Amino acid sequence: MPRIAIVDNEKLKSIEQKLQIQKICPVNKTGQECIGIDPAGKLTIDEGLCTGCGLCVKPGNGAIQIINLPEEWNKKPVHRYGENRFCLYSLPAPSYGNVVGLVGINGVGKSTAIKVLARMIKPNLGDYEKEGNFDLLLDYFKGTEAQAFFQKLKEGKVKISYKPQQVELIPKSTKGKVRDLLKKVDEKNLFEKIVEELDLKNILDRELTQLSGGELQRVAIAASALKKANVYIFDEPTSYLDIKQRINISKFMKGLVDENTSVLLVEHDLIILDYMTEFIHIMYGTAGAYGVVSKAKPSKNGINTYLSGYIRDENMRFRPYEIKFLPRQPFVEKTNIELVCWDDLSKDLGDFKLKIDAGKLYKHRVIGVLGENGIGKTTFVKIIAGKLKTDKGNINQQLKVSYKPQYLEIEEDELVEFFLANAIAKYKTQLITPLHLEQTFTKMLSQLSGGELQRVMIAKCLSENAELYLLDEPSAYLDIEQRLALSKIVRDFVEQKGASILVVDHDLLFIDYISDDLMVFEGLPAKEGSAKGPFNMRQGMNRFLKHLQITLRKDIETHRPRINKVDSVLDREQKRKNEYYYAN
Ligand code: ADP
Ligand code: ADP
Ligand code: MG
Ligand code: MG
Repeated sequence: MPRIAIVDNEKLKSIEQKLQIQKICPVNKTGQECIGIDPAGKLTIDEGLCTGCGLCVKPGNGAIQIINLPEEWNKKPVHRYGENRFCLYSLPAPSYGNVVGLVGINGVGKSTAIKVLARMIKPNLGDYEKEGNFDLLLDYFKGTEAQAFFQKLKEGKVKISYKPQQVELIPKSTKGKVRDLLKKVDEKNLFEKIVEELDLKNILDRELTQLSGGELQRVAIAASALKKANVYIFDEPTSYLDIKQRINISKFMKGLVDENTSVLLVEHDLIILDYMTEFIHIMYGTAGAYGVVSKAKPSKNGINTYLSGYIRDENMRFRPYEIKFLPRQPFVEKTNIELVCWDDLSKDLGDFKLKIDAGKLYKHRVIGVLGENGIGKTTFVKIIAGKLKTDKGNINQQLKVSYKPQYLEIEEDELVEFFLANAIAKYKTQLITPLHLEQTFTKMLSQLSGGELQRVMIAKCLSENAELYLLDEPSAYLDIEQRLALSKIVRDFVEQKGASILVVDHDLLFIDYISDDLMVFEGLPAKEGSAKGPFNMRQGMNRFLKHLQITLRKDIETHRPRINKVDSVLDREQKRKNEYYYAN
């Protein structure tokens, strides 16, 4: 049986621990060396000798993964990072005239796959002892449709432009003003047009180091799009962006493609992925161990396949369960007991003015909050949390709140296991297990990836005792499955505890799925914000969607919300009836 053994030596502390693990291995007991310790003290597992018994996994304490691949596994690797390291099978294929998406959980190799295409990683076809070489792909794809593409790429007839996932790292390597950076890469002479389309006019004279995440994201997209290329690759182009900007980026991506140009991107916002792509590849496998790219499928079909967990034409069940969007169940004990209310409030912060209409929150509810970046959502959350005083007006109750800020800061570095002690003791089944936090226990907070820290902070927030929980942008850095898991956690938590949770987020599907009521922020970003509501969902969504001029419908098969194509029959009909939100 083909098998992958992954060892993260950084997680293995002492030589004693390694010797212990070595002693457990039944193959080693027979005198062969399946588990070895090299002269540098690194623990290695020989995949040829390994029987897949998995006895070493537990004492490895999260450092070892043994994956038994299906018996009939016939895939050859495209790239392996090293001995007992992550292994990538196959690659996505750009398709001219189309926007193609790549969807999959965190750590399954999406960035690795597109880095190979972008020629940032030299593929070694699994032979990690040799240096990789791009030309190897010609052999690998011989006789397939992709062969012609790689041939052209080799001959320099295809040019690739690439935007990395982590835009926050850009100012560390590139200095200077936005205008100068963009002018320098403007091979297409489209500076003015793209600055306009991506709404960058107001920040052209800023230094890269001064930009917010969302501004940096749009600058990075602009820089990639200004280069002459046939294949534009964007790794997670909508993180840090609000919904309006995500819709705008979707249109921008569609505008980039023509019969000689393709866009390939990674996206975790399901509504946006659906809206912006024509085709998608599903990436499945095991996080941190291996990843396989499926064949391309038309987006609607592909996303439904992804949700179903089973790829029929490849006979691959990659998730044991199907993801379904059942109609939101009202809470059994939904009451109209007031939790907190406030008068008309106002707050000035430098040039920014926030007005909050008088409103109230009820017990036992999830309240969603939608609005553009820079419109005062975080300011409002801080006011409710009692961290910021208003200039005018009062909040009528002193509430016990628990608050997860938008920007996560580590106050004091410690082991996750200690930081989450309370959550582990009290909410193992409600929080720790569904957020897959066990594997982070032995790490320090400062060692966590963005997605891990987000999940740790969500668990910490919800494990405190409070009447109102405030989650500011919890979906950031999370993949689709984690977002859906979080939806369920939030609903179950409110059901069981009877508390209320207020959630600010830019993932429309996530907010739609969890919220009973909705607050909508309107105004001019960075100048004036106006907080309205809470409304009931229909009222709030209608108001919000109308402002964006998009309409939603429900997919018949999966019941997931989808954005109607502009000017399609449904779009026009819903706009005429003033029903921007889907009918149940
Ligand atoms: P995704 O983009 O789907 O979240 P990545 O492609 O970034 O996944 O990473 C896939 C796996 O490859 C990760 O689990 C990571 O541990 C591993 N990996 C990434 N870069 C390297 C590297 N330079 N060396 C070894 N392993 C790596
Ligand atoms: P959102 O969460 O909706 O993105 P915020 O509430 O964070 O918006 O910010 C709203 C506006 O207020 C932004 O333009 C921001 O730059 C500004 N702002 C926030 N905090 C301060 C502050 N302490 N001083 C001056 N301006 C601020
Ligand atoms: Mg990635
Ligand atoms: Mg905010």
